[in-house]
Amino acid sequence: MSITVGVLSIQGDVCENMAASHQALDEMNISGNVIPVKTPSAISDVDVMIIPGGESTTIGLLTLAGDTLATLGERIRGGMPTLGVCAGLILLAGDVTDRMLGGTGQPLLKVLDIKLERNSFGRQRDSFETILSMKPLGIGDFPGVFIRAPSVTAVSPDVEVLSVYDNRIVAVKQNNTIGTSFHPELSGSTELHRHLIGMARR
Ligand code: GLN
Repeated sequence: MSITVGVLSIQGDVCENMAASHQALDEMNISGNVIPVKTPSAISDVDVMIIPGGESTTIGLLTLAGDTLATLGERIRGGMPTLGVCAGLILLAGDVTDRMLGGTGQPLLKVLDIKLERNSFGRQRDSFETILSMKPLGIGDFPGVFIRAPSVTAVSPDVEVLSVYDNRIVAVKQNNTIGTSFHPELSGSTELHRHLIGMARR
């Protein structure tokens, strides 16, 4: 079996997610490839999707072009295992506000039944690292890298909370979709990327 991992390649830490995905495939001894995704036709080639961190407003607006956002939403609703990292988590959310600005009116995929606050932990200079666990996935001692990170402020009963830090929800899962406030591709651990690829295998 061969697995193709797609990384939405509009803006943000695309290369880091592609590298972590390559490494995860290697470590799992799975033959596969990792491709950048920019267009609806590229989305049809992938088994697993990653929406990287970056600037969610920019990624969302540019992904609207040529129906990429709509096609991505259809695939995710159809069950494609998907990971949204930081800005990626924001794009997956149903309801988004900004800590300073309030409503953002930005394009969203709305596949996670969550409310989310952007820039929840402060500005760039308030970026930090801490050790987290994602117990429902069997992942402990995971380095959490937070860069202008959002937090999840409310979840519907269908959403599983994977990780809490400082009384704030920082990772969630709903069916085939995982979102993290932090950056697993910068953690030095491929554990979450391996988990995601494992979802496609099952
Ligand atoms: N603060 C960014 C946003 O709201 C997300 C930052 C990130 O992805 N590291 O889009």
